[in-house]
Amino acid sequence: MTTETETIIEDRVIPADGHWGRIIRKGQTLRIVDLEGKQAVDFLCYSAEDPSERYNAADTMKYAKTIFLTTGHGVYSDMGRRLFTIVADTCGRHDTIGGCCSAESNEVRYQVADTPSCRRNFLRALAPFGLGKKDIVANINWFMNVPVNPDGSMAIVDGVSRPGDHVDLRAEMDVLAVISNCPQTRNPCNGFHPTPIRVIVRA
Ligand SMILES: [Zn+2]
Repeated sequence: MTTETETIIEDRVIPADGHWGRIIRKGQTLRIVDLEGKQAVDFLCYSAEDPSERYNAADTMKYAKTIFLTTGHGVYSDMGRRLFTIVADTCGRHDTIGGCCSAESNEVRYQVADTPSCRRNFLRALAPFGLGKKDIVANINWFMNVPVNPDGSMAIVDGVSRPGDHVDLRAEMDVLAVISNCPQTRNPCNGFHPTPIRVIVRA
């Protein structure tokens, strides 16, 4: 509990197929709001000081002992350090294994060329920070539902997030966070209708 007044550093709506990135200082909190529900938010993060240290999906899952991240879990770097702690989660279902969509994978999966994609949005979000293709690694998809069945099969299925569901991520060091608000329309990750999200950074 704190008696200090919270300061809003940024409060922004990101349209469907939009991208966003900023450095979040240690102790600040990033809230990601699924405004209309069932909207996948592709997410990557890096040490702001040295972006060669970045989110590591496998280690994050190993430390959490689950593929489904929620309140209390850490988002870890490849150096075993916490980038973020998930301090609130009103949805309870997020994806760590499905990765981001790309024009190339849409062509393989759906036989369509030149689609908008999270990979393209990540590249746009990373460019102002001097990062690019080599810096895109396995990512978190907030609000995306990818269950794994006992036989090992997995699929992207209908999301369970409701309008206004959110996650709060507290930065444990200075972190560069980037987002693609997923434009996918060929599987249920966005309810076949991508919608806006909101990001709020608080000190
Ligand atoms: Zn996507």
